[in-house]
Amino acid sequence: LYNQVQDLKGNIRVYCRVRPFLGDQQSHNSSVSNVEEGSISILTPFKYSKEEKKTFNFNRAFGPSATQAEVFSDMQPLVRSVLDGYNVCIFAYGQTGSGKTHTMSGPDELNEETIGVNYRALRDLFLLSEQRKDIISYDISVQMLEIYNEQVRDLLTIDEIRNSSQNGINVPEASLIPVSSTSDVISLMNLGHKNRAVGSTAMNDRSSRSHSCLTVHVQGKYSTSGTTIRGSMHLVDLAGSERADKSEARGDRLKEAQHINKSLSALGDVIASLASKNAHVPYRNSKLTQLLQDSLGGQAKTLMFVHISPELEALGETLSTLKFAERVSTV
Ligand code: ADP
Ligand code: MG
Repeated sequence: LYNQVQDLKGNIRVYCRVRPFLGDQQSHNSSVSNVEEGSISILTPFKYSKEEKKTFNFNRAFGPSATQAEVFSDMQPLVRSVLDGYNVCIFAYGQTGSGKTHTMSGPDELNEETIGVNYRALRDLFLLSEQRKDIISYDISVQMLEIYNEQVRDLLTIDEIRNSSQNGINVPEASLIPVSSTSDVISLMNLGHKNRAVGSTAMNDRSSRSHSCLTVHVQGKYSTSGTTIRGSMHLVDLAGSERADKSEARGDRLKEAQHINKSLSALGDVIASLASKNAHVPYRNSKLTQLLQDSLGGQAKTLMFVHISPELEALGETLSTLKFAERVSTV
């Protein structure tokens, strides 16, 4: 049933979430003038051009007051289709500070309300596989990778962090860890988080300039026929999409910015060509799209979840994020 519902909607969907104002910013003006269930309207003030209202359409839009539970419940059918043998990719896209990590992992203070998509998705897969256990027995395992400057790194090894294979298309040696409960998942996420912090300093928050990917592999075996099915889900917290400040970006910062730019536009190109059903899909232009090639296109289901900041100062980045969404959208 989940698949039928999803198939009706097509294989690529685009969601948008607007972050609330933080702390004492409440009184500031917002660039977002209106959020409907399937659209977001942006008011560009006079100083940018002429004042005008632009409306962008999505499969689903979430305003600043949307809860983590509401956001997940819309994605739940997609997540559940993994147990029916589908490959699913969920991407969080947006400028640094727009709420990508909040959606995927949650804030620093985690509790039942604040936990993000990654944890909710795994919890839901465990729950559903338990309900189906008389018919199908499932094995679930996870991988966590980071892509930084086009290098793929395994985040689930307690040994010294190894660089992956040269071509990065497959990461056969990346740890694949069986999980059977949400507590297994929490301890692995903590390990991944700790490993990811290696290489960051206070001045150098690497997490916003690398992509992190939590992959869930599922294998199910029917108890009567013995037939097996496989599905996978990639939950990707992308590097910040903001353009590097031309006057400031030099050396390492410039190199990082170029790699991010290259991989995000490669991802946009792949999804846009899938959305317009082009025969040629340019997977080979970045590590990210090479790594996910088998899970993008064909029967696979993709959710591009764009995030925007409400501040007027972010308007330029907000508009470029929304244009990216428009380009990959089939709405
Ligand atoms: P990103 O990962 O895109 O750089 P974060 O997820 O780290 O952005 O969000 C930036 C800040 O805003 C964090 O302090 C985060 O907790 C907060 N935040 C983001 N989205 C929300 C939200 N929907 N509700 C409350 N706080 C949020
Ligand atoms: Mg983040």
